[in-house]
Amino acid sequence: MTMRLYTVLCDGQEQVALGCGASGEGLCLLRDLGIEVRDMNDLICSGRIDEVRAKDPEKCAACRSMDSVKILAPIPEPRQDLVCLGVNYAEHAAESHRYNASLDSTATATVYFSKRVNRATAPGDPVPSYPGLVDSFDYEVELGVVIGKDAKDVSEEEALDHVFGYTIINDVSARNLQTRHSQWYRGKSLDGFTPMGPCIVTPEELGDVQDLAISCRINGELRQNSNTSLMLQSVRGAIAELSRGMTLKAGTVIATGTPAGVGLGMDPPGFLKSGDVMACAVEGIGELVNPVE
Ligand code: MG
Repeated sequence: MTMRLYTVLCDGQEQVALGCGASGEGLCLLRDLGIEVRDMNDLICSGRIDEVRAKDPEKCAACRSMDSVKILAPIPEPRQDLVCLGVNYAEHAAESHRYNASLDSTATATVYFSKRVNRATAPGDPVPSYPGLVDSFDYEVELGVVIGKDAKDVSEEEALDHVFGYTIINDVSARNLQTRHSQWYRGKSLDGFTPMGPCIVTPEELGDVQDLAISCRINGELRQNSNTSLMLQSVRGAIAELSRGMTLKAGTVIATGTPAGVGLGMDPPGFLKSGDVMACAVEGIGELVNPVE
């Protein structure tokens, strides 16, 4: 069954919705399927996803068109900072090191950092460019992993059992702030710097998460074009490693790193300016498009 989960603004309220129709062209609000949840975090943490699975969205009498609602980020307000993997594709590690030697390409252990997300940016919404503060605005398409049940000391074999679903994240970065401070937190965490969406796809729909095309176009030009098979640390490996000694709570969002082709890797660097359009895509999930304000 198609399981594409959205957060939408409908009648002035945030609602969780299920993609419906033969090609996922419509939406059913969970409310109209008899499932009342406060938001996506509540759906994840309550375990009521099995009730959603039991519904047949083809038979929903209240199927709406996508155009009749405003699609928001699937988790508009994550309960905790995002956990991010840095330099998790070899070619991106190399281009990062060429740009600034402080961005280490020789790390022998996975680089983890965090990203503040007061509110994730909705598909289609502009990302602030902060003139006067940011002089090197960059994009990073990433596969996002949403944890579905608390994970503590899980093995790699068990790790994917803790995944609720997958989404697309644009890890927007201010390179001047990222490299000015010895930790990346500030340069990654400005308000609006986390476009997410357009939906969460459940694992059974997606197939092998380590074999998905991942790409980003800027104003239509293909800049990033890779495959999740090239991650240095896998999704299952990251969950297992992070969960050793640290609980990954349900609702945690993990951004799994970006492949080569970001602005800092170009000669001269291809940083973005107001009016540029970023289109991030991951096979089986869709496309996340945001202009630079
Ligand atoms: Mg990143």
